[in-house]
Order: sequence, then structure tokens, then C-alpha cells
Amino acid sequence: MQGTGMRITDIDVFQVSWAADDRPQQRSAFVRIHTDAGLSGIGEASPMQGGLASLSIIARDIAPGLIGKDPLDHAVLLDTAFHTFVKLGPEGALTGALAALDIALWDLKGKFLGQPIYKLLGGAWRTSLPFYASIGGNGMRSVDQVLRVVETRLKDNPAAVKIRFDNDRNRLDGDLPGDIAKAKAVRKLVGDGFPLAFDANNGYSTGGAIRVGRALEELGYWWFEEPVQHYHVKAMGEVARRLDITVSAGEQTYTLAGVADLIAAGVRMVQPDIVKMGGITGLVRCTALAQAHGAELVPHQTQPTIGHMASLHLSASQLHMTKPCELNDPSTRMHAVFDNPPPSRSTGCSTCRPGPASGSPSTKPNWRNAAYRSAERRVRRLDCAGIGARLFSCRRSHQFRRRPCQSKPGSFAPESAPRGEAPPRLSPASCSRIR
Ligand code: CA
Repeated sequence: MQGTGMRITDIDVFQVSWAADDRPQQRSAFVRIHTDAGLSGIGEASPMQGGLASLSIIARDIAPGLIGKDPLDHAVLLDTAFHTFVKLGPEGALTGALAALDIALWDLKGKFLGQPIYKLLGGAWRTSLPFYASIGGNGMRSVDQVLRVVETRLKDNPAAVKIRFDNDRNRLDGDLPGDIAKAKAVRKLVGDGFPLAFDANNGYSTGGAIRVGRALEELGYWWFEEPVQHYHVKAMGEVARRLDITVSAGEQTYTLAGVADLIAAGVRMVQPDIVKMGGITGLVRCTALAQAHGAELVPHQTQPTIGHMASLHLSASQLHMTKPCELNDPSTRMHAVFDNPPPSRSTGCSTCRPGPASGSPSTKPNWRNAAYRSAERRVRRLDCAGIGARLFSCRRSHQFRRRPCQSKPGSFAPESAPRGEAPPRLSPASCSRIR
């Protein structure tokens, strides 16, 4: 078999701290893959509990099998790893690990071939992507508080607004009239023509979901997200089939087969997340599946750095993009991207002119708005080779390191970096390595 001659030499796994006092569970999880060609690729894992479980699986189980392999064989390598370690999952921690590795290997491929990833995916249908403001935590807020938060996010001129409820999953149907009242108040605030979405975050029974869904239909909401528990695929399908409003799900679906089950159950809009299931390769497979079944695919994506960049490449190359891209609430995690763009772009970058994306809502973006400028800046950086993102202000504070002195081979323990130091650049030399 002919290869590129390039071989994987090292794999780093590390967390990035976004605030001086955050806990390991609040940090982001990254992987960097090095090669003997001098190139490296970076990927991001699902941040649940700081991604610690995914980083541990990479370091202890998957990485040793990747050393010495050709990184352009990424699909073969990662499908092999999935089936080898399937009993560690197959959901959640394992697929988050594979997603991070896949994104890093695509980044490497882009750098090796000198092309942005969307080109390698077949080209971009659009070089500007509208965003919607994804506003969390509304279950705990009063109606007035919800309105104040929505007003604040409207200043960013999003193409749509999604109100997420984030209620306690141990209590279903906690306050149906109260939730409907918030939906009504937000509709009144933004006016009849503005695109709105409602995210139940799995908070309802089937009957409760249908009741809320009927109200959302009356209020002209665009879509109704995760109305029931994600693992009740049949119930999710029943809600979708009984309502006229588009019902979406899939951010907690970790395999291609799982997405197929959702579509078969009747869910018309699926939302797999690039850092949770399969990375770029996984999402490409999902887009083909959704297209074949006439389902909408709208990626879930709440990570503002590598995950977001990878998702934008995928969305740029997707034939039917029926909804804007998700942009999560402002947070310290965004600062690395929003406030510290790379000072220069690498050779070969071309400029994309911003403009409304095909199929986007008619809401006109305000190009002078800081948030949108930031989003647009990231889209422009899609034209860099690979993912084209650099984490300039990330403070690497927590990493896994192989400790040979420990009794169990392959045991990894977190290591904390000193606090209060200047943010270091993420460089291979500053990371621990697995050989
Ligand atoms: Ca959601």
C-alpha cells in the first residue's frame, strides 16, 4: 500500500483553562497530533466534565495504536479504534475522543495538502455563515429576566434566537404554563416575523411536549428542540410526527446508526455535534445520511474555538444549510477567538467577502456589530490551510502526563500549572507527549 511517507510521532492531550479560578470540569479538552513531517494538527473533544474522560481514553488506549501510522488514513485508523474500544462506550467519552482525533487529523491533512478543509470536503456552497444566538438557562429565569437576556443578545443582530430552558432533567413538565408564557413573551418582544427556536433540553414527557409544541406552533416558532429525554427515540419520533413544527434532536446522539434511528423515528431535523460524535468524518457521514432521507442537518455546536472552526468548515461545504449556525452565550471561552485573533494569516489565505448565506433567514446582519465581526473573522479564517485557528490566549493549565514511576503502565494523572502566569502559547514543546 502506498502512503504519504508522513508518520504520526507524538500525541498530546491537554485541557485549556479559560479563567484563573476555573475547575478541571469547566475547561476545554484538546488533542494535538505531531508528525515526522514537522506538521501538527489540533482537535477538540466534547467538554463534558472538562473532557477528562475523553483525554484519558486517547492517552491510555487509542494514542499508542496511532504512533507510526499515516495520518491521512484517518478514517481507517479511527474506525479501527471505534470497534476496538467500543465497549468503553460506544457513546460519550469514547466518541468525544475519536472526534478530537478526527478533527486533528483533518487539520493535518489540510496543512499537508495546503488546502482548507472545506476544499477537501468538496468546496464551499457559502463562504459566509449566519449565526443564531443560543441563549441558555431560561428555565430558572423569570419572564422579565428572560426578556432582558434576549434583548441583550438581540444587540448582536443574530439571524435567529433560540431560548434554551436547561431545566433539571430529573423533573419533567416542571412548569408547562410558565414555559409557554416565556415563549409568548419572547415572541411579543421580537415581533411576528423574527425567527425563534425553543430548546426544551429534554424537559418534557411526551404529552407535555405536545402541549408546549402546539403553543409554539401558534406562536410561529421555527423549531422545537429535544422535547423529551434523548434516549426515548420512539417518543421523540412520536412528538415529531404529531406536531407540525419541526422537532429536532441529535446533539446527544453519538453514532451514525443512532442518527439513522432518530430519522427513522420521525425526527425531521438532526443536530449531531462535531466534538461529540465522529468529528468531521462523522458529520460528513451524517450529512449524507440526512440528505438521503430528506432530513435537515443542523450541527449542534457550542465550543467557540477548534470545535466551532471545524463545524464551520463542515457547514460551509454542506449542500442544504437550512438554519443558521449555533453561537453560544458569551463566555470566557470565547475570548481566545473573539479578542485575540491571530496577528497574521498564513500564506495562501484568500479573503471571503461577507454576505447573506443562501437559504439564510432574511434578517440582515449588522456588519459593524462586534459579535458578528468576530464570527465573520472566523469564517474568513476558513480559507487558511487546515482548520486555520490558533489559540493565542489559551492558558494551558491542566494536562495528562505519562508518569513512568507509577505502578500501572499507561496511567495518567492530571497536572496543574501554576496560576497567575502569563498565558503561554500552545506549542508542542510545552506539552507532554505520548510516544
Ligand atoms: Ca440543545
